[in-house]
Amino acid sequence: RSKRRGRGQITVYSREIAQEMRRATQLEQALRNAIISDSIDVHFQPIVSLANNMVLGFEALARWNDPDLGFVSPAVFVPLAEERGFIDALSETLLRKAAEAALSWPRELFLSFNLSSAQLMDPGTSSSILAILTRAGLDPHRLELEITETAVMSSAETAHRIIADLRAVGVRISLDDFGTGQSSLGRLREFIFDKVKIDRAFVSRMNSDRASEHIIKAVLAMCEGLDLRVVAEGIEDHAEAAKLKALGCAMGQGYYFGKPVDGAATLRYLQTHYFDLSHEREIA
Ligand code: C2E
Ligand code: MG
Ligand code: MG
Ligand code: MG
Repeated sequence: RSKRRGRGQITVYSREIAQEMRRATQLEQALRNAIISDSIDVHFQPIVSLANNMVLGFEALARWNDPDLGFVSPAVFVPLAEERGFIDALSETLLRKAAEAALSWPRELFLSFNLSSAQLMDPGTSSSILAILTRAGLDPHRLELEITETAVMSSAETAHRIIADLRAVGVRISLDDFGTGQSSLGRLREFIFDKVKIDRAFVSRMNSDRASEHIIKAVLAMCEGLDLRVVAEGIEDHAEAAKLKALGCAMGQGYYFGKPVDGAATLRYLQTHYFDLSHEREIA
């Protein structure tokens, strides 16, 4: 009896695996087509000063709405693109679109762009990024690149070279999702970052869990000592914004200030949220 059940389970599992593989192939094919047909879009989410709610820049976030598959999260298709070797093509298109969009924003505003870990293993990444900026006409001083701790660790030597080359021409580097990786503190003493983005997990627990608040306080104190700018991610309500401001966090990002929206909606957002007070923007 147990033998029969065992065989039955094997059949079920292999059918599930086959289904999963078909889905992955379908997704890969659709992603390939979406990249070729240039139908992956880029949206923008504001990063603001917590002192006065002024917008300082925008993070570019990839958006793919497939006619058959519907909305696919970048948390799914970015890793897939990395795995299947087309992250370069995808990332180049996204950066080009984001840089072109940033040209129609006020010059003081920065563009923050996510780099994937595969790109930090490829020595050609820095020259490819700079070529895109030059072609678009975007000043490298306006670009920030968001990278994660795991990305720097995976190919440390190449990653450090890419980061150094880009910083040399004015590009700034942010450590994304801080607090979720493997060796947070060690990374910071390498002085390769300009900014730290505290992960949403700490922000969303801050007002219910004392530990998260203490961690945020410690991160802020440490970043102050290391001369690093800090952004709190995932701020969803007034209470979180007020608490972070009181703790001395300079910058924030999250649905409370604005969800990621397309290029046209970003320009409308700027019409109502941007005031020309460039002399007060030095904290960005
Ligand atoms: P990330 O870089 O940490 O981006 C922040 C994520 O949090 C985004 O999810 C954003 O929409 C979401 N978010 C922002 N504010 C809030 C909030 O208040 N509440 C909640 N619940 N979520 C908030 P998204 O757009 O789904 O992106 C997920 C991840 O995919 C990103 O995490 C990033 O790692 C990756 N990604 C997105 N676009 C790109 C890209 O163009 N290139 C690369 N390499 N990765 C990208
Ligand atoms: Mg990011
Ligand atoms: Mg993040
Ligand atoms: Mg993330």
